[in-house]
Amino acid sequence: MKIIAFVKQVPDSAATVVVEDGKVSWGDAPLVINPWDEYAVEAALQQKEAHGGTVTAISMGDESAKEALKHALAMGCNEAILISDPALANVDTRATAEVLAAAVRKIGDADMIFFGRQAIDGDAGITPAQTARILGLPMLSFAASISVEGDTVKVERSIEEGRQIVSAKLPAVFTVVKDFGEPRYPSFMGIRKAARAQIPVWTLADLGIEAPKSVVSWPEIMNPPKREVTCEFIEGDSPEEIAEKLADKLIAEKVL
Ligand SMILES: Cc1cc2nc3c(=O)[nH]c(=O)nc-3n(C[C@H](O)[C@H](O)[C@H](O)COP(=O)(O)OP(=O)(O)OC[C@H]3O[C@@H](n4cnc5c(N)ncnc54)[C@H](O)[C@@H]3O)c2cc1C
Repeated sequence: MKIIAFVKQVPDSAATVVVEDGKVSWGDAPLVINPWDEYAVEAALQQKEAHGGTVTAISMGDESAKEALKHALAMGCNEAILISDPALANVDTRATAEVLAAAVRKIGDADMIFFGRQAIDGDAGITPAQTARILGLPMLSFAASISVEGDTVKVERSIEEGRQIVSAKLPAVFTVVKDFGEPRYPSFMGIRKAARAQIPVWTLADLGIEAPKSVVSWPEIMNPPKREVTCEFIEGDSPEEIAEKLADKLIAEKVL
């Protein structure tokens, strides 16, 4: 089984992201592997363990994205590839998908292609579906469990209304959600192996494609409006007295 897991490097979820001079900034907060992509790597590794084969982690980004790839290697991926090219700065999801699809084609004969459900910075959540479409492969999203029999895969999708079972022939593209189960921690041996790993860098020329054109632009980006919040502690000698004061305030403010 040839398996690919796509991982993106993003600012830590605890970072304060602000817009300064029209540019997105997260200060000196660390960059980490997109948390949703750890679930994708976990799902990919479980398929490797069940059916044999290899898992290749791929990221498109600058040099710093190697850290996300090292995390994937430390979790147990066999190899990692960085796609980096100056022409790819700030491309949209469709252009990203073209590049990721070209990488899948270059690797060749992939059976299962895993993505996280969305990147916590861009938050588009459509790169996987666009990649599947370019490759002409079935897209099985929001996977909470995955089982493979022969060339058929069955996925339990976790959706708001409950669970849905879908099935398709391999090769196929998957997005993985939290219900899949906690991603494993990198092992000590894995961390050592990842630290020594040489990660090859593919450019657009290596992929044999021209710079893809974005179709969506971000002409403006702004911080959310500041909200004025005041906090008042209601005191009293008993819970009943506090509740009564709270009810009076809610009535006075016309909340009740
Ligand atoms: C300063 C700035 C300017 C930008 N300008 C634009 C713009 O003009 N137009 C626009 O549409 N977007 C713009 N973007 C967004 C950016 O290009 C997107 O991050 C990218 O297109 C992917 O979309 P997403 O992050 O929402 O990913 P999603 O679609 O939310 O990602 C889903 C999954 O796809 C995979 N994935 C996504 N990206 C990668 C990657 N690079 N490498 C490997 N796997 C990946 C991961 O598995 C991820 O979990 C800008 C971003 C920045 C920071």
